[in-house]
Amino acid sequence: MVGADLSAIPRQRARTPTAILPGMNYRHAFHAGNFADVLKHMVLVALIDSLKQKSSPFCYIDTHAGRGRYDLRGAEARKTAESDEGFGILKTASGLPPLLWKWLDVVRACNAGDESMRYYPGSPWIAAHLMREGDSAQLCELQVGESDQLRQLFHHDPRVHVHQRDGYEAMKAFVPPKEKRGLVLIDPPFESQEMEFRVIEKSLKAAMEKWPGGIYAIWYPIKLRSQVQPFHRWLGKSGAKRVLVAEVLLRPDDSPLRLNGTGVAIVNAPWKLDEVLRDSLRVLPKLLGTPGESEYRLTWLVEEGKDEAPAHGPQSPHSVRRR
Ligand code: SAM
Repeated sequence: MVGADLSAIPRQRARTPTAILPGMNYRHAFHAGNFADVLKHMVLVALIDSLKQKSSPFCYIDTHAGRGRYDLRGAEARKTAESDEGFGILKTASGLPPLLWKWLDVVRACNAGDESMRYYPGSPWIAAHLMREGDSAQLCELQVGESDQLRQLFHHDPRVHVHQRDGYEAMKAFVPPKEKRGLVLIDPPFESQEMEFRVIEKSLKAAMEKWPGGIYAIWYPIKLRSQVQPFHRWLGKSGAKRVLVAEVLLRPDDSPLRLNGTGVAIVNAPWKLDEVLRDSLRVLPKLLGTPGESEYRLTWLVEEGKDEAPAHGPQSPHSVRRR
């Protein structure tokens, strides 16, 4: 996601994930619980729910796991106060659609009875909370401090395996998992925006060749629409049979200087995932966005049985207004 201080990162220097590392100063604690986390984690809950519809075990692979749980009263979270504009609004909202309620229930569980909801769960915590006894998780986090905290969080859970290593390389090594069913979440820092898309494409291609049937959910930031379109075009031609894109735009996607929106692309999206997401997606711009400017998009980039992917990605914005 978009880092706390990007100034130290030469935008075009990095060519591989390893090359990105020396300058990497991203800490998700600055951003936990923001509107982008809400969308990503809502989709994650829906995907794990759908995997649980079959009794056979599944594997969850998190290529960029973070530390697993975030203290919203901590100095990093308070410095940006980003969660106030995401989770902070939704935690007191009433009448939320079922999927958002499920997500909120997971956040409540992460706070074990603490009504103030001080902690916000990261993707590993959410997945582990929803997993069953026979399911497993492979979590990759490159930064030592973050991966130490992640390991500590799950030291008691034999289903969960933490790896301090490059998630892109690990993805290639971990697929296909022995369970032969599951989900890979790819959620990189995007410190070098366009470069990260190219790294994702390369790694995803290799993983999809080894495991064409896996579900891959890729989170991305939206600043300029023109930065996202090549990725959508690539997905459209990737050979995947089903690719669904869910986006929330708080503002027009026409400025490179701020996070205007966020999206998740889901390769091999489960049947009817669009219907599961739609109601919750619809309320996010309404509750979190600027009246008249915010919108959501839910589009099949590739749909089984249809020959052509749309050339420019999602085309059908839905503007909604705050109540
Ligand atoms: N997925 C987490 C969640 O939803 O709670 C948030 C992850 S955060 C956006 C990205 C994380 O990726 C950071 O903690 C960063 O340290 C880590 N990271 C950056 N490059 C990496 C790489 N090549 N492999 C693994 N982790 C990486």
